[in-house]
Amino acid sequence: MFKVKHPLHLTSAGLVVIPMTVSSLMTGALALALVVTGSWASASKSALMIVAVLIYALVLFILGRSGFANIRGLEMRAVTDPLTGLPNRHALHDDITRLSRSGDEVALAMIDLDSFKQVNDHYGHAVGDLLIARCAQEIRSVCGGEARCYRLGGDEFAAVMTGKVAGTILEGICRTLLERLGTPLTLDHRHIPVGASIGLTRSTADNRIASSEMLRRADVAMDMSKRGGKMRCTWFNESFDRRRERVREIEEDIRAGITAGEFSLAYQPLVDADDKRIVAVEALLRWDRGTRDPLGPNVFIPIAEDSGLINPLGMWVLRQAVCDALRWGDITLSVNISAAQLRNAEFPIRLGEVLEETGFPPHQLELEVTETCLVLDPVVAERTLDVIRSFGVRIALDDFGTGYASIGFLRRFRFEKLKLDRSLVELAGVDDGSRAMMLSSIALARALDMGVTAEGVETEEQAELVRLAGCDQIQGWLYYRALPAGEIDRLIAEQNAALRPGGERAA
Ligand code: C2E
Ligand code: MG
Ligand code: MG
Repeated sequence: MFKVKHPLHLTSAGLVVIPMTVSSLMTGALALALVVTGSWASASKSALMIVAVLIYALVLFILGRSGFANIRGLEMRAVTDPLTGLPNRHALHDDITRLSRSGDEVALAMIDLDSFKQVNDHYGHAVGDLLIARCAQEIRSVCGGEARCYRLGGDEFAAVMTGKVAGTILEGICRTLLERLGTPLTLDHRHIPVGASIGLTRSTADNRIASSEMLRRADVAMDMSKRGGKMRCTWFNESFDRRRERVREIEEDIRAGITAGEFSLAYQPLVDADDKRIVAVEALLRWDRGTRDPLGPNVFIPIAEDSGLINPLGMWVLRQAVCDALRWGDITLSVNISAAQLRNAEFPIRLGEVLEETGFPPHQLELEVTETCLVLDPVVAERTLDVIRSFGVRIALDDFGTGYASIGFLRRFRFEKLKLDRSLVELAGVDDGSRAMMLSSIALARALDMGVTAEGVETEEQAELVRLAGCDQIQGWLYYRALPAGEIDRLIAEQNAALRPGGERAA
């Protein structure tokens, strides 16, 4: 609980002792002056008593006033955020509780800035503070006199409104705020892009919700906005809670599944675009859930990422894949790496240990990262990738064509390989615009000295298209699906036999 401690410690004893001492001293001084000046006889004792009481009352009054002013100041500070001057979380709880006593709707918006951490990392905390103050100004100006705004701490703000259609008006205010934040803010000649993710919730007269529950709901809705791609508002919905519960269950299952050895790896071969020889394999995680509903990596990997379980799981993948690939000669091994792993300072150290312990040649290992992985924290990502490259391990950009990777982005990270996403390959076969985009991506990758792999090739037409466009490797169901390690052993043995003098291909 919040406690206010008075700096002067004006206890009731203080309120008696200090004025008594001051008034005794002053009355004594007055009596002494009267004796010295010879007027003691003419001054009556009762007059002296009245003077003493008056001085006592005066001192009491002055002390009381300054004490109350201090207490009021401290109370203000207890409900005000010092950086922005906005009311804080305590004020928000108080206001929601007070407004809920009326018969009107109370609407709450939770506003969380996107990528504020990067601003702190890039420009330092002083600029971060300026940015928070600037955003507070924007939020205050958008809310105007209609909604009250708050800073809850860090990069989190809130706005509250009451009235018959408070929710609708507040949503409008939030949309205006998102529009404003769509343009980078200018701070000390720097143009800093800041977005926001917003969660909304309401409490009505027939369904009153406590302030702490309103905050929780707005927070859950805000989280959905973040997951949905940021820069949006989302209204709280009861299904979000059920979804959260499901996510928590899967998280527990993953934890138990790691210990129980329920995870395994499948390997999908990548072939040379010209002679269709297997030149690489990509390790893809599989989860045997027994009789429970099956879950693919697109479902369980994001949950493992959010919970941090991707760190032990990802290390298991790496070690297992490297151990399997030791049997496959000069075939390149590709392993997918999540953003959370890349952000983990331990990751390059563990990778180095795996390479050393297994003796796997680093130049045959390729780590696949996605654009979102790097955009989230480019400075940290660049540092980690540099360490990884110093081992001789190569980096591939996965799922290219699904995000917004720019030329600058590709130059900055100097990937050794670009993997064109299945969606781009598929569309290039039917749509001229997508084909032009695919061709220019391949030309750009070539100019930057990167290899290019087309993913998800399912038809001969697609294979011919990407080969002519300049892709050097092809991955897709047209050639191979993801297979157990034992099947890869067999395929590689067959391929090696065929390539040996006297084998089919050599013949
Ligand atoms: P990805 O890295 O882009 O992997 C390629 C995905 O495309 C795989 O799906 C693969 O089975 C599928 N695929 C390949 N060829 C075709 C095709 O011709 N047609 C179609 N329709 N699909 C094709 P999968 O195995 O379900 O993996 C999905 C994603 O999960 C992967 O996408 C990757 O992002 C992630 N993932 C899988 N294993 C791991 C892992 O060990 N660690 C991490 N961090 N992510 C992983
Ligand atoms: Mg991949
Ligand atoms: Mg991919």
